[in-house]
Amino acid sequence: MKLTIRKYGDPVLRAKGKRIDEVDDNIRALAGDMLETMHAANGIGLAAQQVGHALQLTVLDVSQIEDRPSTMNLNGRPVADLATAMPLVLLNPQVRLGEATEPGSEGCLSFPEISADIDRSIAVEVEAETLDGEEILIEATGLLARALQHEIDHLNGILFIDRMSSAAKASHSSRLRKLQKETAKL
Ligand code: ZN
Repeated sequence: MKLTIRKYGDPVLRAKGKRIDEVDDNIRALAGDMLETMHAANGIGLAAQQVGHALQLTVLDVSQIEDRPSTMNLNGRPVADLATAMPLVLLNPQVRLGEATEPGSEGCLSFPEISADIDRSIAVEVEAETLDGEEILIEATGLLARALQHEIDHLNGILFIDRMSSAAKASHSSRLRKLQKETAKL
C-alpha cells in the first residue's frame, strides 16, 4: 500500500525514531509499504518518519541510479552488482562517518522541488539489523554513502536543510515557508 509522504512542517519529521526491538507483522508491513511508496515516488531512500512513524527504520535503493556511482561492501565482502543487494531495509542503523567529506546534490521526498549541495562523508560504515533479525555491516562510498547519511539523519529528526549552507537555505527560504504553510493546512 502506498503511504502519504509527510512534508516539511510536519512535526513527526523532527521526532527521533524509537528503537525496534522486535520485528512483528506491523513492522514487516510498514517496511513493505515504505518500499512501495519510495519506488512510486522515484526516491532512493525513505525513513519511517516520512510516512508518519517515529521508528528506527529506513529503506534504500540506489540500484537504478547509473550516473552517480556507489560502492558497497556487505559484511566485509564487495558487492559487485548493487542490484543484488537492493533494496535495503535497515533497522536501528548506527553510522560511523569517514573523515573526508565532499559536496553533492541532494533532494528529499519531504521537500518537493528543493535540492542543494550538502557536504557529507565520502565513506561510511553502517551497522544495522534486517527484518530477519540478522546483524549486517555495510561499508559504502558514493551515492549510497550519501543516501545512508541522509536517511539515518531522518531517523534522528535531522533534515537536510539543517546541513545546507546558510546561503543555500536563504535561497530556498520562500519555498520552505510556503511548504510549511501548506503542511499546516493539512
Ligand atoms: Zn529525506
